[in-house]
Amino acid sequence: MNATAAQREADEVGAPVVELGVPLVGGSNHRSTAGTAGLDVSEADRVERFAQMRAGELGSLHSWELVTAVDGPGTRLTTFLSGCPLRCLYCHNPDTMEMRRGEPITADELLGRIRRYRPIFEVTGGGLTISGGEPLMQPAFVARVLRGAKELGIHTAIDTSGYLGAHCTDAMLDDLDLVLLDVKSGDEETYKRVTGRELAPTLDFGCRLAARGTEIWVRFVLVPGLTDDVENVERVAAYVASLSTVTRVEVLPFHQMGRDKWDALGMRYELDETPAPSPELVARVREQFRAQGLTTY
Ligand code: SF4
Repeated sequence: MNATAAQREADEVGAPVVELGVPLVGGSNHRSTAGTAGLDVSEADRVERFAQMRAGELGSLHSWELVTAVDGPGTRLTTFLSGCPLRCLYCHNPDTMEMRRGEPITADELLGRIRRYRPIFEVTGGGLTISGGEPLMQPAFVARVLRGAKELGIHTAIDTSGYLGAHCTDAMLDDLDLVLLDVKSGDEETYKRVTGRELAPTLDFGCRLAARGTEIWVRFVLVPGLTDDVENVERVAAYVASLSTVTRVEVLPFHQMGRDKWDALGMRYELDETPAPSPELVARVREQFRAQGLTTY
C-alpha cells in the first residue's frame, strides 16, 4: 500500500497514520537520543509500519523530557508525540503539529525507557505524562503505552486539548489517573480563532471525564487581546467549575518563546506584536476562577 492509500484507509477507519518515509525534523525540545535510530525507514516497510501503527505497536515521537512540578504530580517523564489537529496561534511547539515530523518508536521501546525511571517516580510520587502535539492523534499507541505503564504500577496522565476526546476509549480512561485538559476558550468564536477548530468536543470530553470520576487539571493560556475577554474567561471558569473532578486550574501567561520555531518552519506567526499579560491581568483572571471556587496556580 502506498502512502496515499494508507492515508485513505486511515481516514476511512479513523485510524492514525504516520508517513515514515520523510526526513525527520526536531525542534528545540528534540532529544537526539529519542526515537528509534535503529529502525530503517523505507518505502518497503510502509505497509508493515502502517499495520503496526493501527495495532498501537508503533508511534510517532517528537521528544521527551524529565520534569518536576509540571505536567502532573511529582517528577514526570513527559513524552511529546507528534501530530495535532489544532493550529493554536500561540503554539510553542509548532514542530509537533505534523505527525510526519516525528520519529518512529515502538511501544515496547518507550515502555522500556519508562521502566528505567520507575525508582524516580516512586520517590517523587511522579509518573508518565503523554503530551504532544495531541496524544489522541495516536490512540492505539497511547492505549498500549498506558496499559503497559499501569502494569508497571506507574501514575499516568495525558495532556490533551480534548478535541479528539472521542478517540479516548473507556479502557484508556481506566488506565489514566489524570487528564491535563487544555480549555483554550469559553466561547465558540474565540476557540475557533485560537485553534481553527470547534469548541464542543473539548467541552464534551471534560463532562465525560467528570461523569466517570477521572481527575482533571485544567490549563488555560491567557493571551492579551485573544483569550482575556472578561466574558470569555467567565465562561471558561463557569464550565470548569461545573466539572466535579477538577482539582487544579493553571492560568498560563502567554509568552513568545515558541516564535523562532514558527520562523524556522516557514509558518506564519500572527502574535508578533502580542505582549505577555501584565501581572494585573493575570491576577484578574485568576480571581475570576477563584470566584467560582476553583484553586488556581
Ligand atoms: S493543541 Fe497544543 S500542540 Fe496542538 S496546536 Fe495547540 S498548542 Fe500546539
